[in-house]
Amino acid sequence: MARDSRAPLVIGGSTIQRGSRETVHLPVAPMYTAMEMTMPVHVIRGKKDGPRLFVSAAIHGDEINGVEIIRRLLARPELSRLRGTLIAVPVVNVYGYTARSRYLPDRRDLNRSFPGSQTGSMASRLADTFMQEIVENATHGIDLHTGAVHRTNLPHVRVCFSQKESLELAQAFRVPLIMHSDLRDGSLRQAVVETDVPMLLYEAGEALRFDEQAIRVGLRGVLNVMRTIGMLPARRASRKQVQPLIAKSSRWMRAPDSGTLVSMCSVGDVVSEGQVLALVTDPLGREEIPIKARTAGVIVGATVLPLVYEGEALFNVAELETNRDAVGALERFESNLGVDPDLPPSLEAAQAHDPID
Ligand SMILES: [Zn+2]
Repeated sequence: MARDSRAPLVIGGSTIQRGSRETVHLPVAPMYTAMEMTMPVHVIRGKKDGPRLFVSAAIHGDEINGVEIIRRLLARPELSRLRGTLIAVPVVNVYGYTARSRYLPDRRDLNRSFPGSQTGSMASRLADTFMQEIVENATHGIDLHTGAVHRTNLPHVRVCFSQKESLELAQAFRVPLIMHSDLRDGSLRQAVVETDVPMLLYEAGEALRFDEQAIRVGLRGVLNVMRTIGMLPARRASRKQVQPLIAKSSRWMRAPDSGTLVSMCSVGDVVSEGQVLALVTDPLGREEIPIKARTAGVIVGATVLPLVYEGEALFNVAELETNRDAVGALERFESNLGVDPDLPPSLEAAQAHDPID
């Protein structure tokens, strides 16, 4: 294991020298067209030793906001002053990404296949490659996700609150909301935490869509973590810093019947118990069934497709730990985003500011 930050760094058989940046293509199972397939990894090693952070995206192949976050991250000029090593893996599930699918061609979910094995299924082998080549070389990790197809998430971080170091990383990320999430069997998060590497999972936006706010909050979050763990020079703390809301759990509100969904709320809304979130109706308008919040909290996930089947998960309400002014906190986060010196004011400016090599 190369977790000693002074040890040589070898990824995919390539030795990455101090003060260099390199793209390594990790071989994975070839396509059945005989075409070779690789997982691209971009490694930036600073001149000075320090933490080794992996940032990964598209473990679910259709969750693409994280791919754009990493693209913008790699263009940041301050990386020339990096201490330690950034290991960026923008597309982990290369098969799902090319097919615009969450899954692998064998229909498995990569994020239920960790830690994997060298001799197992396609998913298991891909997971094993990621563990051996990326996680084994890392001291910290950030994994970037979005909601599923037709579902969007408020930018938030999921972390297991009993993992102290992971919780500290989550605090450093500075998102509007941090939510406790148990470690799920077979997930990357579980496999990484079991190797004593702290990591967080960022959730924001919708599958197969770019969401500018989700991308900006995510990029700023990764930079904040890098500053906090000493990979980038610290910035003077802004007095405007807003404390994230803390949620101990969340509950899905499901469709009581099949029909057309007339939604009255969206992610980021603060709701009270019993509040009507939406109506389920039908094309003839014969009936309107209200969907009420069964708990008070913040909507962190919501469907964006108004056609629903009975039992479908529609609104994910995070239950907050305290009675803080949630509306005010979320509004302040949003207004801070516009004046954050880390982030250019618009997408056009972002593209001009972040040229690709
Ligand atoms: Zn995901």
